Amino acid sequence: MKIGFEIHEQLSSKQKLYCNCPTNYRDVSPNTNVCPVCTGMPGSKPAPPNEKAIDSAIEIALMLNCEIVMQEPIYIQRKHYDYPDLPSGYQRTSLPIAKDGDLEGVGIREVHIEEDPGKYDPVQGKVDFNRSGIPLVEIVTDPDLFSSEEARSFLRSLIRTLEYTSKVRPEPSTLRADTNISLEGGKRVEIKNINSVKGAYRALKYEVMRQSRTEKVERETRAFLESQMITVPMRSKEMAEDYRYIPDPDLLPIMITEEKVGKVREQMHEAPHMRKKRVIEEYGIEDSVAEVLVSEREFIDLFEKVSKEIDPVFASHWFKDTFRKVLNYEDIGPEEVPFADEKLIKLLKLVESEKITPEKGELILREMVKNPKDPKVLLEDLELQELTEEELMSAIEKTINENKEAVEDFKNGKEEALNFLAGQVMQTTEGKADPREVMSILKDRFNE
Ligand SMILES: [Zn+2]
Repeated sequence: MKIGFEIHEQLSSKQKLYCNCPTNYRDVSPNTNVCPVCTGMPGSKPAPPNEKAIDSAIEIALMLNCEIVMQEPIYIQRKHYDYPDLPSGYQRTSLPIAKDGDLEGVGIREVHIEEDPGKYDPVQGKVDFNRSGIPLVEIVTDPDLFSSEEARSFLRSLIRTLEYTSKVRPEPSTLRADTNISLEGGKRVEIKNINSVKGAYRALKYEVMRQSRTEKVERETRAFLESQMITVPMRSKEMAEDYRYIPDPDLLPIMITEEKVGKVREQMHEAPHMRKKRVIEEYGIEDSVAEVLVSEREFIDLFEKVSKEIDPVFASHWFKDTFRKVLNYEDIGPEEVPFADEKLIKLLKLVESEKITPEKGELILREMVKNPKDPKVLLEDLELQELTEEELMSAIEKTINENKEAVEDFKNGKEEALNFLAGQVMQTTEGKADPREVMSILKDRFNE
């Protein structure tokens, strides 16, 4: 089995690719971010391509270890097809701006820049052109994946790499992927309309099953129906679309200079797979821990800052177990934590030096996420809420006095009566007592 991908993601840019219309299409009413260029009016002339979008695509290509096409004209082509979301009748797509990269052993064949078409709603028959002309990066891989599982994990890794650049739009569901799959001896089948990693996995799983049960697999393009988790025929080889590519006569070709690539390289982030390798070597942390740490750029950024003052191995486990858990629980990303790095370091120092238990450390962190006070102040607050020895003993006395029957039962050998009594103490103390401590005090009392 051989699987490859073609992935499209929107580049984060305030302006569209060939005009100055804004790109915040989700926040505005339909057809308000439009002009004659992005709606393809006859006679309208595109502006030269958005430099920022080109820089972003170069950075993405560099992160994917590609060779940038330099000092030669990169033509912008018109790809013709007819669909209501494309009023001009063609989509502008660049020749490769980069080639021959790889990500975790999977070949990255080409990287292109494209413009997004509009959004067509076939049910209502309406089109919204706010999206037309938003810059896209297209990434084409070699068919180097050999199972649906491998494909899924590669796609996750690719998305993480793109997120690391912060050059793709952060909103979810901007991913659009096509995948191609051929089983041994069979023909290549292309699947379109995939919008998520899970969707890609389901589509491939379905296709493996379908192709292995089909006697003669034809070369064709199929569409994935997410609602039913199946693929259906779109067009066969005979009906293959002829896009009649021609260079766009309204646009000069893109020229990427060595100087420009140098500038992008200078300010770009380290790719996550490279960073994982480095932190393992530099800090001596475990592979599986490093994998969690590099899951988000801001998370590993924080870890590296903290590691200057805290033992990195200790901090790595704490980040992976406690910090990750609290972030997930509060449903926030590491870039959203409201406290300064120094407070996190202070808290970790308390845990590392065993001045507080890891459990207490976690309670303080939970509070810090909502209420970014100094951890020492939060610790004092926490201790104020704790049960004093006196309060605990009085709750135990009260329980014994009010439950004479249960006390007798226990003395007569009914072990479960002790659980009942401990439960009563927990209720009286509103759950603040430590149940193990309560059990042991009660036992001592009755054995006297
Ligand atoms: Zn426009």
